Amino acid sequence: MDASPGPVPPADFVWPGGQRAALSLSFDDARPSQLDHGIPILDRHGLRGTFYVSLGNLRDRIDEWRAAAATGHEMGNHTLSHPCSGNFPFNRDNALEKWTLERIEDDIDEAQELLEDLLGRRPRTFAYPCGQMYVGRGESVQSYVPVVARRFVVGRNAFDEMHNDPGFCDLAQIYSMDADQGRLDRLIGLVEAAKRDGGWLVLMMHEVRPDSGRQTISAEVLDGLCRYLSGPAAEVWVDTVEAVGDYVRATRGGW
Ligand SMILES: [Zn+2]
Repeated sequence: MDASPGPVPPADFVWPGGQRAALSLSFDDARPSQLDHGIPILDRHGLRGTFYVSLGNLRDRIDEWRAAAATGHEMGNHTLSHPCSGNFPFNRDNALEKWTLERIEDDIDEAQELLEDLLGRRPRTFAYPCGQMYVGRGESVQSYVPVVARRFVVGRNAFDEMHNDPGFCDLAQIYSMDADQGRLDRLIGLVEAAKRDGGWLVLMMHEVRPDSGRQTISAEVLDGLCRYLSGPAAEVWVDTVEAVGDYVRATRGGW
């Protein structure tokens, strides 16, 4: 007999406070522009973000990152050495194709220790660098999703195509959508689509700058999105990946 829990019918899933959808704003790599422009915008609108931090960037401005964590922003694990496919020329020397499950476990665990030392709190969610979830090549490829599932409430993927169904999604590989270079009307459209389905939308961003550009959301677009989200008409629960993940898991009875 299959003892694994089945999906909860969507009609049974209710977001807190009668909200129609959930939204998490996530930012990768601890880019300095997130401190300079991103966090001040979130703070101005009273919203909390999730930051999947790279250790080098974190150490460079550790006091400011600690201050952000102290005000409720989530700091998540993004590995120690940010391994991705060697198909990216910049990453040929750190290619997942050459990694093993043991190596990715050690890398993630070392990042956990360092982040706990630096921030005083152990991260509870994870973001896959480059959205890639495997080690090895060809017939010897192995997924490292189980490594993440054993350690974290949520594993966040990248460059996906829709929001998550909270009654069904695998919390170890939740979808996130790329909001870099996003236009405000498109991003609001994604939120509206999540509201129609009662979904959990996760947006992924990198740089936050006055001007738009590669891997950048413009400060103006982020500010406009936050203004829309923090208004009473939005009917969206905006919170960290950790907070929404905990809620989804608890509401589903622990899976
Ligand atoms: Zn990254």
